[in-house]
Amino acid sequence: MSDRQITEIKGVGAKTAERLAALGLLKESDLLFHLPLRYEDRTQLTPLNALRAGVWAQVEGVIVHQSIRYARSRMLVATLADDTGQCLLRYFRFYPSQQRQLTEGARVRCFGEVRWTQQGFEMAHPQTQTVSDPSPSLPDHLTAVYPTTQGISQALIAKLIGQAVDRLVKGQLLLTEFLPSRGEAGVMDSLAEALVCVHRPGPHENIASLLEGNHPAIARLAREELLAHHLTVARQNHAREQQKAPVIQPKPVKGQSVVEQFIQGLGFEPTPAQKRVIDEITQDLGTHRPMRRLLQGDVGSGKTVVAGVALVMVAASGLQAAMIAPTELLAEQHHRTLKQWLTPLGIEVVWLTGKVTGKARASALERIANGSAVVVGTHALFQEPVVFKRLALAIIDEQHRFGVHQRLALANKGKREGELPHQLVMTATPIPRTLAMTAYAGLDVSVIDVLPPGRKPVKTVAMSQQRRDEVIDRLATVLREGRQAYWVCPLIEESEVLEAEAAETRSAELAKVLSDFKVALIHGRMKTKEKQAVMADFVAGKTHLLVATTVIEVGVDVPNASLMMIENAERLGLSQLHQLRGRVGRGSAQAACVLLYKPPLGEMATERLKVMRETTDGFVIAEKDLELRGPGEVLGTRQTGVMRFKIADLGRDAHWLEDMPTLAASLDEVAREGLIARWVGMAEAYIEV
Ligand code: ADP
Ligand code: MG
Repeated sequence: MSDRQITEIKGVGAKTAERLAALGLLKESDLLFHLPLRYEDRTQLTPLNALRAGVWAQVEGVIVHQSIRYARSRMLVATLADDTGQCLLRYFRFYPSQQRQLTEGARVRCFGEVRWTQQGFEMAHPQTQTVSDPSPSLPDHLTAVYPTTQGISQALIAKLIGQAVDRLVKGQLLLTEFLPSRGEAGVMDSLAEALVCVHRPGPHENIASLLEGNHPAIARLAREELLAHHLTVARQNHAREQQKAPVIQPKPVKGQSVVEQFIQGLGFEPTPAQKRVIDEITQDLGTHRPMRRLLQGDVGSGKTVVAGVALVMVAASGLQAAMIAPTELLAEQHHRTLKQWLTPLGIEVVWLTGKVTGKARASALERIANGSAVVVGTHALFQEPVVFKRLALAIIDEQHRFGVHQRLALANKGKREGELPHQLVMTATPIPRTLAMTAYAGLDVSVIDVLPPGRKPVKTVAMSQQRRDEVIDRLATVLREGRQAYWVCPLIEESEVLEAEAAETRSAELAKVLSDFKVALIHGRMKTKEKQAVMADFVAGKTHLLVATTVIEVGVDVPNASLMMIENAERLGLSQLHQLRGRVGRGSAQAACVLLYKPPLGEMATERLKVMRETTDGFVIAEKDLELRGPGEVLGTRQTGVMRFKIADLGRDAHWLEDMPTLAASLDEVAREGLIARWVGMAEAYIEV
C-alpha cells in the first residue's frame, strides 16, 4: 500500500488533522519527515539506589504511598519503591485519573528528571505509564521527542509517527527512491534506512551528530530536500518567464523626466552605487518580465531613495505601487519621507496599517481600490479586504522580517489575469553570496556598497555598566551641544512587558538626572498613536533623548542623533548591535556608540564587542557573525524569512549546492515531480514568485 491522507489514518479526526496540518503534516508520509527535537534513552531502567541528581532516568517500581499535600497549592505526592530504594513522585497539577493511576500497590514506569531534595530523590511530573508484572520489554532504540503544537500531545505525535515508521519498515508504506545510489561516504544510500535511523536510533548511535545534522542519515535527507528545492525554484522561474508584468514607462511632467525632478528635490546627489542600482531597477521595470530583485545595502546606505525612484516611476506611468515595512514605526517614517518627496510631484501617498481604523481605514481602502498611486504600510496590506486597482510594483523593506509567504501574498494581491506585479525586496542584513543564491533563489541581487559622502564611521567604545555615571556625563555634554541621543534597553528576559518596564524605569531615572533636557520613552507596548507622537517629537528635535527598547532597531532615521547607548550589549548578537548602531552616524557630526556591558564578560561576548569596536562594515560584521554563531543561526528561518527547510540547513549543507544542477539533470520528469511533491508540495511549487 502506498501513501495516504492523514485523515485516513485510524483515530485521526478532522480537528486533529487540522492541527497536524499546522505542523505541515498532510499525508502519512509527511510524518516520516517530521524529525525529532531530541532523544530520550528509555532502553534501560535505573535502579532507584543508582539515581543521580540532574539526570533524566527511567525507573520502575510499585507505589507504596500516596498523599495530597497542601503547600502553596494542592499537590499529589507518591512514593515509588523498587528492590533497591525509593523515590518521590511529585505533581503540582494533577487529574483525578493520575491520582487513580498512582494508587498504592500500582506498578508504574516513570521517565523524568531526577532532583535531590532533603527528603531524598524525586521526580516532578515524570511521564508515567502503568505496567503489568512481569513488566513489558524495553525499547531497543532511543525514544524520539518531536516538535508538537497546541492540541497535539507528544504521545499522539509519537504514536502516529511510530505507526508510519512501522509501515515503512514492513513495506506497507512505500517511498520511492528518486536519487541514484552513489555509495558516497558520509551519506546514507537508502532513504528508508535514513528515516528509520533518525526516528529509531540504536542506543549506541551517535546522537550528537544526529542532532547537529552531520550524521549520514541526515545528510541523505538534507541533500534530497535541497534537490527538491532546487527543482522547485527552477520550475517557479520557468513559470515566471511565462508571466507578464506591466511595462513601466514614466511620462514626463511639464516636459521633464519625473525621476530627474525627484532627484533634484532630494537636496543631495545619489551615490554612484545608488545610481547603479537605480539603473538596474529601471531596466527591470521597463520590460514585461516580472522584476524580482533583492537590494542589499548596509544600514544608512540610502535604500529608501532607490525605492522612492521606483515608486515615482510607477506613479508617473499611471499605475500603483506599494511599499511595506515590518513595523508601524518604520512604516510611519517611510510615509513621512515619501510624502515629503512625492507630494511636490503631485503624487498621492496613502497610508494603511492594522492600526488605521474606522473612517480613515474606509477612505484608505477606497483610494487604493480607485487606483491611488503610492500606498505605504505594514503587513496589513497583505490582508483580504485590501484590493488594488492595478498594482504594478511591490516594495518590501527589511525583507528579513517577513516570511517568503508574506512576500508571495503581496504578489498575489497584485495578480490579475496573466499579469504579476514587479517586486523589490530590500534588506540591510548582508549574507554571504553562496548562501544568498539559495536563500533568495530566484531573486536578482543588487548591492549598495558605498555610504553617502561625509559620513564618518561611528566611534564605538565598550564600557562596564559600573561606569554609567561617566556615560551620563558624556551624554549631557552631547545634548548640550544640541545633538540628540538614543538610550536602548534591550530585552532582559524573553518578555516584552519586562522590557517595557525596564525602559520605563531607565527613562524616569535619566529624566531626573538630565533635568535640563526632554527625555522621551518608546517601547513596543505603547499605542501606535503614542509611538508616532513620540517619534514625531524626536524627529522635530522637541525631545533630546529617546529611551527605547529594541523597537527602534530597524530603519529609524534621525540625522541629528549622534550618540547611541546600548545597555546589556553583551546579550545582543552582532547583527542586532550593528542595526542599532546604524541609527546614528546618519548626519555630518561625528557619532559615537557606547556599549554598556555587565561584567564579567564571556568569551563570545568579549569577541563580539571587540568586533563592534573594530569595524562598522556590515559585510565584515556579517562574516564575523557567521563565524561566531555558525551559519545555521545567522540564516535561522525565524529571523530571515528566507526559504524554509524541514531538514536542510543552508549554512551546514551549503557544500551540497554545487552538485544540484548535475543531480537535477540526471532525473527524469517523474522523479522531479515526485521529489517536489514529497518535500515542497505541489501547490506551492506552482506559485509564481
Ligand atoms: P537605509 O539604507 O538604512 O534604509 P536610508 O534610506 O534611511 O538608509 O538613508 C539614510 C539617510 O541617508 C537618510 O537620511 C537619507 O536621506 C540619507 N541619504 C541617502 N542617500 C544619500 C546621498 N546620496 N547623499 C546624502 N544623503 C543620503
Ligand atoms: Mg531603511
